[in-house]
Amino acid sequence: MKRVGVIGGGQLAWMMADAAQKLGVELVVQTPSENDPAVSIAKETIFAPVDDAAATGILANKCDIITFENEFVNLQALTDLAQQGVCFRPKLEALAPLLDKYHQRCYLRDLGLPVPRFFALDDVENIKSKIEYLGFPVVLKSRRHGYDGQGTFIIQDFASLEEKLSCESTTQTSNQSLFLLEEFIPFERELAIIAARSVEGEIVTYPVVETQQEQQVCRRVIAPAQITPNQVAEIEAIAHTLLNSLEVVGIFGIELFLGADGKVLVNEIAPRTHNSGHFSLDACETSQFEQHLRAVCGLPLGNPALQCPGAIMVNLLGYENSDSDYQSQRQKIAEIPQAHLHWYGKTESRPGRKLGHVTVLLDNPNRESAIANDIAHSIESIWYPR
Ligand code: ADP
Repeated sequence: MKRVGVIGGGQLAWMMADAAQKLGVELVVQTPSENDPAVSIAKETIFAPVDDAAATGILANKCDIITFENEFVNLQALTDLAQQGVCFRPKLEALAPLLDKYHQRCYLRDLGLPVPRFFALDDVENIKSKIEYLGFPVVLKSRRHGYDGQGTFIIQDFASLEEKLSCESTTQTSNQSLFLLEEFIPFERELAIIAARSVEGEIVTYPVVETQQEQQVCRRVIAPAQITPNQVAEIEAIAHTLLNSLEVVGIFGIELFLGADGKVLVNEIAPRTHNSGHFSLDACETSQFEQHLRAVCGLPLGNPALQCPGAIMVNLLGYENSDSDYQSQRQKIAEIPQAHLHWYGKTESRPGRKLGHVTVLLDNPNRESAIANDIAHSIESIWYPR
């Protein structure tokens, strides 16, 4: 029996529960609120914010290994624990180049991986010349702590950029050096791949998926993506290069852009399980959550292959402030043939908050058949008020 400490107690930790039970692993969670989803499945909870390294020290005393479902940690403070012998998987060095989006872009570029053109926004004098190089629209991103599109802004002209910067600098105690500026990619589709690496260095990858974002938030994921075998091979090679270079142990999610010219660019790395891999719970022999626990516990990796021709995953996002549990909508969605509904048990709904997801297994994933999109529309028309 291993005890795994998980920093973060959201739905990503909650979805490890079945796998933990299957593998005989106990989960101890560090999360701030007793209402957080994973509290109900944890053997024990340390109630503290994820960046509270002193609390992680207490967690470490109760566990064999510590892993992450949330990467917004205080890496510097955790380094002291690592030096005292606490086992982090993935190791802290694998997270270090990724937590700041500018450092992440630099790391990927230096590895020779394709990324959008980008700059750190540190020098007002040079903004104009940098933008001339990139051309409008540009994308302004907070370097740290961005998620679900928070901190990502598509900017159409110079006046809007100035306005956004001054507004962000006054609302947060931030300054320009906390932003990254990058070219806007007129992508044809967004893609993602989930990859796992074991303690021994074995790597497995899940099928490449298509992700569909609205207002920068993931709404749907279609597995597998209808792309060419060469594109699949290129994306798998990116995953191998990255995971080997960082000597990752565990799951990473890699988000990508596919251009109209067929070129692939890396958008973002999630150093943990990821929304684009939720389909694996119902559609694959080994889910990303089991795979992650296998990897961090030093077990052999499982089979990541789809067990059905395809799947579509639809996020159930909050659309109001409410404490409803949405019973009747959930019941209607669960009645859809081949649907598997996962409800995270959050006690409060807010616009954009991820409350649950549903995966529908498909007999025919062919993009042209439009079946996946029809299913997504019927789920969303039950879920969202008209
Ligand atoms: P987050 O970390 O909040 O998920 P991302 O950097 O992944 O932020 O951006 C969220 C979404 O914004 C992306 O999925 C994509 O739809 C859009 N986006 C981000 N960067 C670009 C870009 N350079 N060009 C075009 N769209 C972008």
